[in-house]
Amino acid sequence: MTLQRIVGLKQLEEEIRRERAMLASGEFPWVIPSFPSKPTCFDVVIVGAGMAGLAVAFQLQQAGIFNFRIIDTCMPGLEGPWNTYARMKMLRSTKDLVGPAYNFPLLTFQAWYEAQYGESNWQHLGKIPTHLWMEYLGWFREMLQLPVQNCAHLVHLEPVENLLKLSVIHGDMPEDFMTRKLVLATGRGGFGGVDLPEFVKDLPKGYYSHTCEEIDFRALKGKRLCVFGAGASAFDAAAVALEAGVGSVTLLLRRKHVPKVNKLASLTYYGMSAGFYHLSDEERYAFMVESWGAGGPPPHEALDRVQGYSNFFVKGEAHIQCVFVEKEELVVLLTQEELRCDYMILATGFKVDGTQQPELRDVADKILFWKDRGTLPKDAAEKFGSFPYLGPHFEFLEKKKGEAPFLKHLYCFNYAATLSHGLISSDVPGIGVGAHRVAAGIAADLFIENSRANFENLVQYNQSEFDPRDYPFLP
Ligand SMILES: Cc1cc2nc3c(=O)[nH]c(=O)nc-3n(C[C@H](O)[C@H](O)[C@H](O)COP(=O)(O)OP(=O)(O)OC[C@H]3O[C@@H](n4cnc5c(N)ncnc54)[C@H](O)[C@@H]3O)c2cc1C
Repeated sequence: MTLQRIVGLKQLEEEIRRERAMLASGEFPWVIPSFPSKPTCFDVVIVGAGMAGLAVAFQLQQAGIFNFRIIDTCMPGLEGPWNTYARMKMLRSTKDLVGPAYNFPLLTFQAWYEAQYGESNWQHLGKIPTHLWMEYLGWFREMLQLPVQNCAHLVHLEPVENLLKLSVIHGDMPEDFMTRKLVLATGRGGFGGVDLPEFVKDLPKGYYSHTCEEIDFRALKGKRLCVFGAGASAFDAAAVALEAGVGSVTLLLRRKHVPKVNKLASLTYYGMSAGFYHLSDEERYAFMVESWGAGGPPPHEALDRVQGYSNFFVKGEAHIQCVFVEKEELVVLLTQEELRCDYMILATGFKVDGTQQPELRDVADKILFWKDRGTLPKDAAEKFGSFPYLGPHFEFLEKKKGEAPFLKHLYCFNYAATLSHGLISSDVPGIGVGAHRVAAGIAADLFIENSRANFENLVQYNQSEFDPRDYPFLP
């Protein structure tokens, strides 16, 4: 059956089940339970049911690993940014990316879309509407029957014997469970939180928001707004504010010009995904600094949305010295001038610094970071030094060998992995490649950790291929 002939989700789902059966994926649950006496011990817990967590879960199933759970702080349907602070109308990436469906065409967004709306509508679709992307992720999760526990927030983890003990708040109730492996698929802000500039540290919270927060734009009607940042989220926030009828928006950026080349987009080819990890530290740093240094431009759709508003202004080379409140106004002191506004939105992104991540507080100081390697240029250590220096399957490594061997059971599958593994742990294009790498590492480890029991199974294995009585000529 070809894609064109699939009509409706039901038929697509049947075909997916049939193809999965053909691959015999998931037929043989081979993992030997290490601690059968502990029923709440999982082989794997994935923290985060966003795109990355779901992608890893799919790859675990493909690898025949089923004793896992996914937890997420959010209510169902609100995982990740898509239905909350992603204010763009459509995804920034192109529509044809494989994403979490890695190597399984019928699980792609395209297959899901075509099954419901037809091939011709797919041909005419520009980019993927943001809410449809979230709907698709919800279907992906349902289709694969992934075991997600929502409203479950990981607050603490600690090693106990050869396991990890997780303290989770589920609803309002504390719940502990054990796992052999833990995957942190915790998203863009999952390894350090939001990046707030120094100049807001003393500002009353009622005067500003970060773009990842819920913002009541209706309450800003008629007000003067400053948005600080030059990327897509800055323009998206400005657009929503203008559409909501704010008095004016002034977008401030440190750079002279709004970046227009997205160098990262040139790095989504398979060779880069497969080979980047194997480069030297210096080479990896060079690749990433070249890409990040160029900045992330807003897509033209974001610019189209703000174009034509006569109350929208963009100011380049805006170096904010300080911001303070005077007579209920925000005074923004730039190097050359002073601005006044009523509210500020910070499109300043996220930090990468595991020591700031609450659930990692007892383990972060034992993790090997890039700054510990001594291979970064001096002036780069402050900016990139807090990225974790990861092993080949996204596992943390120890700062001091032998001090924290449990770290190899913790997999950092979020944006913080980028300096180690490239672009395969955060954005849509490479997420499947990264998820496959995590699952392959977990599978290998679960096998190695049980190698004696696996060998014993081999010794005990005695299933005959035939009945010797049927072949009397055999000696
Ligand atoms: C506004 C915006 C637009 C983007 N647009 C694109 C795009 O067009 N194309 C593209 O390729 N990329 C895009 N990205 C980048 C990337 O694809 C997204 O950030 C994507 O959501 C990453 O998926 P994820 O699963 O890693 O993280 P998320 O989707 O953020 O999921 C992480 C999940 O982890 C949960 N979590 C975190 N900590 C805990 C905890 N302690 N306990 C329990 N749960 C926890 C969170 O609740 C969250 O649901 C965009 C990012 C943003 C922010």
